[in-house]
Amino acid sequence: MSVFGLTEVIDAVALQAREGRLGIVVLDLDSTAIDTRPRQHRILRDFAAGHGDLQLSELVEQIPEAELGYRIEAPLERRGYTDAASLAALHAFWGACFFTDAYCVHDRANPGAAAFARRVFGAGGLVYYLTGRPEQMAQGTLQVLCREGFPILSGRAVLHMKPDVGLGDHGFKRGAMKEIGRLGGRVVATFENEPAHAAAFLEAFPRAVHFLVGDIRSPQAPEPHPGLVAIPSFHG
Ligand SMILES: [Mg+2]
Repeated sequence: MSVFGLTEVIDAVALQAREGRLGIVVLDLDSTAIDTRPRQHRILRDFAAGHGDLQLSELVEQIPEAELGYRIEAPLERRGYTDAASLAALHAFWGACFFTDAYCVHDRANPGAAAFARRVFGAGGLVYYLTGRPEQMAQGTLQVLCREGFPILSGRAVLHMKPDVGLGDHGFKRGAMKEIGRLGGRVVATFENEPAHAAAFLEAFPRAVHFLVGDIRSPQAPEPHPGLVAIPSFHG
C-alpha cells in the first residue's frame, strides 16, 4: 500500500478505462486540492483595516500567508495579542466572510493538484470534487476551479457541495459516498486533509487507495488510520 503513489492512481484509472469501467477519483477541495490561506489572509487584512486597532494592524502586517491554518485567531495569539473582544469580533468576521463567493475567489490551487486532476481526466477517469463548502459558494468555487486549471467543464467532472450550510461535513461526506457508489464506476482513490473523512472513505471503499494530503487538520482531528497513505502534497 505504501508504494502506491500518484502515478499508480493514474495507471489504475487508465486500466479501468481500458476495461470499460469508469475510474473515480474523489478530491476534497479546502486544504487538499485548494489552498485557502490567501482567502484567510485577505479576511485578516480586511478585518484589521476596518477595526481601528493599531496594535492589531501592526501584528497583521507581520503575519505571512503561510502561517495561517485552521483558526484565524491563532497567529495573533501566538504574537501575544490578548484582546478577547477583538479576537471574538475577528472570529465573527471570519464566519461571515469565509463561506462566500466574494472571498473564496482569492483561493488558489495547491501545487500539482490541478495537473494531477487533469491527468486523471486524461486517463479517462471521473474527477469527483467532494467538498464541505455550501452550495451558496458554487459560483466562486467554479470560477476558481476553472481559473486554476482543474477539469470541470466536461462530462467526467462532478462538483458535489453541501446543500445545507448547517449540515456537518462528516455526515454530508458519508451520505455522498452512498451517492458515489450509485454512479456505477469504481472508486480508485480519494484525497483528503481530514483523517476522519479519509477513514470513512477507507471504510466505504476498501479496494481504493486513500491519501491524506498535507498537514492542515481540524483541532479535533483523530490520529490518522494506519491504512491511509500520507503525502505532503501533490508533488509528493
Ligand atoms: Mg478539506
